Amino acid sequence: MATRCLLRTASLRNSIFLSTSYSRKQCQRSLSSLISLPETHQMLRNMCRDFADNEIKPVAAENDKQHKFPADIVKKMGELGLLSVDIPSEYGGTGLDYLAYAVAMEEISRGCAACGVIMSVNNSLYLGPVKNFGNESQKEAYLKPFLNGEKIGCFALSEPGNGSDAAAASTVARLEGDHWVLNGTKSWITNGYESSATVVFATTNKSMKHKGISAFLVSKPTDGLSLGKKEDKLGIRASSTCNLIFEECKVPKENLLGGEGMGFKIAMQTLDAGRIGIASQALGIAQAALECALEYSLKREAFGAPIAKLQSIQMKLADMEMRTESARLLTWKAAMLKDAGEPYTKMAAMAKLSASEAATFVSHQAIQILGGMGYVSDMPAERHYRDARITEIYEGTSEIQRLVIAGNLLKEFQQMNR
Ligand SMILES: Cc1cc2nc3c(=O)[nH]c(=O)nc-3n(C[C@H](O)[C@H](O)[C@H](O)COP(=O)(O)OP(=O)(O)OC[C@H]3O[C@@H](n4cnc5c(N)ncnc54)[C@H](O)[C@@H]3O)c2cc1C
Repeated sequence: MATRCLLRTASLRNSIFLSTSYSRKQCQRSLSSLISLPETHQMLRNMCRDFADNEIKPVAAENDKQHKFPADIVKKMGELGLLSVDIPSEYGGTGLDYLAYAVAMEEISRGCAACGVIMSVNNSLYLGPVKNFGNESQKEAYLKPFLNGEKIGCFALSEPGNGSDAAAASTVARLEGDHWVLNGTKSWITNGYESSATVVFATTNKSMKHKGISAFLVSKPTDGLSLGKKEDKLGIRASSTCNLIFEECKVPKENLLGGEGMGFKIAMQTLDAGRIGIASQALGIAQAALECALEYSLKREAFGAPIAKLQSIQMKLADMEMRTESARLLTWKAAMLKDAGEPYTKMAAMAKLSASEAATFVSHQAIQILGGMGYVSDMPAERHYRDARITEIYEGTSEIQRLVIAGNLLKEFQQMNR
């Protein structure tokens, strides 16, 4: 059954490769004319949905309970091209666009939010900056082996003393001969345990503040780099999160990514794109919670009829659907702006904010609709509720998204009225 499903999805993947240029053309259509997904993206969506239903969903609860990294699923996601969705095919990536990435991320996260974050970190936080800022030899060593699931990467920006205030990085790097020497601790690093390389940010010139931060490519394991304990988390428990501790860690000089002092720009640009991924993860969680509530409401009877007939339940279902669909439109719009080469910082922040709040709202309502059954792990509603919460925190908290939205809005308004 599993092999048959994979074969089916593999052949769909080939059709997607063949029609890549068609999909790019379609995505450059006027945004306002978006009524439904292009055919290519619809096929990708169906492929991911089948894969999630048949191979991810059945093991999601157990992996969550055991805090077990889903190594087999990650390998299969790699084989299906889901770990390098927008990496050009000349490098061996899937060669699709960000709308495709958003669509795939939602479906995988609908099956399991932990698989979603593993996928999003490799695609947008690790491969993204290597693709955008790496030179050809860096791409050879740090991009190509990370496309098909054999190796995955991670992204190390946050520190114990600063998360939202990323410019306050206290990890430092000094140049000694032909090496950079890194010292400091990076915290909350997703894929920290399983990754074979990281993009890490460190200050190379403290007097320059955020302009003195640089980005480095560091292989794992490596001397001078150790891992902290695996964090015991509320949700997304099948993914690993830990500290990366750098103590006199020597990194070859040529592993500087971009240029000296470009780290902050690389981090911010990477997070803009990453937020589309997290918005999509949140959509997947919201959709899964909504479907769980719909199914239950049709089966569960109270006062002689399915609870779906009760208006108070219908009001909840209506709000859940509306919030999910609104956030989906923002998310797809952000992805399409990125694909069209337009500014998308504000839209990505709006997508992430609205999708993460939708996920929290919808998963909360789903528990209410399930009553007692929503509160126990026999049903997935409680897992969706726990998984939803992180989407309001990582890659910029909701407070930070509001600052980004307002900042961009004010700038746009002032420019229009100059
Ligand atoms: C499970 C998990 C996985 C993660 N994965 C990664 C990863 O792979 N790589 C990585 O680098 N990081 C990762 N992070 C870190 C994550 O991005 C940070 O936790 C997040 O950015 C918030 O930072 P903080 O925890 O330091 O909170 P703080 O920045 O200390 O914020 C605390 C509170 O203050 C508010 N606040 C702070 N500044 C402002 C402001 N200017 N205006 C208004 N409110 C403000 C925040 O919104 C929040 O409510 C992960 C975190 C978790 C929990």
